[in-house]
Amino acid sequence: MVVEYTDSQKRIIEQVDEFCDSHVTEEQVRQWVSFGDVPLSFNDDLRQTKLWDYILPPVLGGVDDRHVERATIIERFMYRAGATLPLLSDMMSFAFLSTMRDKSQKEILEELTTRNRLAFSIAFTESSSGSTSGTVGTTVSWSGTAAHLDGEKTFVSGGQFMPEVLVLANDPIFGAKDGGLSLWLVPVDAPGVQTFPIDAVGQQMLCPAVVSFEGVKLDLDWQIQTEGKLDSMLKRMYELGRLFVSASSLGLAEAALDDAVNYAGQRMVKGRLLSSLPDIQQKIVEMEARVREMQMFVYDAASVMGDGDETHLNVALMKHEVPAKAVQVASDAMQIFGARGYTSAVRAGRIWRDCRGNQVAQGTDEVMTHIASKFIVKKYRDR
Ligand SMILES: Cc1cc2nc3c(=O)[nH]c(=O)nc-3n(C[C@H](O)[C@H](O)[C@H](O)COP(=O)(O)OP(=O)(O)OC[C@H]3O[C@@H](n4cnc5c(N)ncnc54)[C@H](O)[C@@H]3O)c2cc1C
Repeated sequence: MVVEYTDSQKRIIEQVDEFCDSHVTEEQVRQWVSFGDVPLSFNDDLRQTKLWDYILPPVLGGVDDRHVERATIIERFMYRAGATLPLLSDMMSFAFLSTMRDKSQKEILEELTTRNRLAFSIAFTESSSGSTSGTVGTTVSWSGTAAHLDGEKTFVSGGQFMPEVLVLANDPIFGAKDGGLSLWLVPVDAPGVQTFPIDAVGQQMLCPAVVSFEGVKLDLDWQIQTEGKLDSMLKRMYELGRLFVSASSLGLAEAALDDAVNYAGQRMVKGRLLSSLPDIQQKIVEMEARVREMQMFVYDAASVMGDGDETHLNVALMKHEVPAKAVQVASDAMQIFGARGYTSAVRAGRIWRDCRGNQVAQGTDEVMTHIASKFIVKKYRDR
């Protein structure tokens, strides 16, 4: 460990471990992956733990600004499961909730508490334009008596099962103060909303879906009140999302490293332990170094989450580096397992598939290059 965990992180790790000791086995994880969700009892029992105070946003009684602790929860849960748990998207929507104006948070809360699941899905990406590209095809129009929503969002995590979907729309009418964009929390059972599952190669428990809107009559109360601050809200949403996705990649990579090193320490090949072979040693060393670098990036970014250039640079660098390193670690783990690594008998392949998605989720590696390089050039120019 190059990053020394704080006392509060150590307590969180103990609490996650205690929970996982009684709730998470590899056999269960396999069932959850094929079923596409954890059982209700998992979430119900998690709510009874002290971890829930960190998972909840402040508006729901959780603690504020504890990004380091929240990242630690995600890291440790993914490490223990060796798979992306739906907790990631739940925590993402909670974090997003806390970026909204106070009034909107309370309204959303009221709406959500009338339904069973507290979290909502987030629908930004469209097949015709990436989620960070700024061009939004889903549009709000006015027919003379009512506002309607038309368009299609894709890769919406939990889009079929969350009761509400947060939609970013092109909106010349109600989005005037926000450069022609607006945000709406639309019930998935509203007339005109349809959802279709997407068969993703990994992260099956996030259940991505296409969500389409055809002439959906909008209740004006569904609009999120942004007070002209949508742009900064979106930036903050993306930064929190990037932190959480990176923390998830870190936990997954640690699981792959753990499995591979244990295997290398037991497996004999022609009378020699795998861990005594120079090529395998090289891999193990590189994997450990990558995991340490990932820890540094994640907790550096988590500890200075704010609004300045330094935050934007830290987050973009982290998101550029961490998911890519996690893929390399998982790939090396598969290699160390030999042919077994290419089967479902071990977790490395599943971890690799989950990690690969994080090079795209919440902004691609290429988009991170674009953002990070902009801030690096500015930083050196301003010196
Ligand atoms: C596991 C997972 C979960 C996701 N969850 C959600 C979710 O809950 N809600 C949601 O709305 N979306 C979600 N997404 C979608 C994700 O946010 C988008 O896929 C991502 O932002 C990229 O958008 P795109 O797929 O449209 O790719 P595009 O923007 O079409 O990009 C295609 C390729 O072009 C490259 N590219 C694009 N712009 C540039 C540029 N300026 N410079 C250089 N290269 C560029 C990209 O890096 C990429 O390689 C999820 C995706 C994954 C994989």
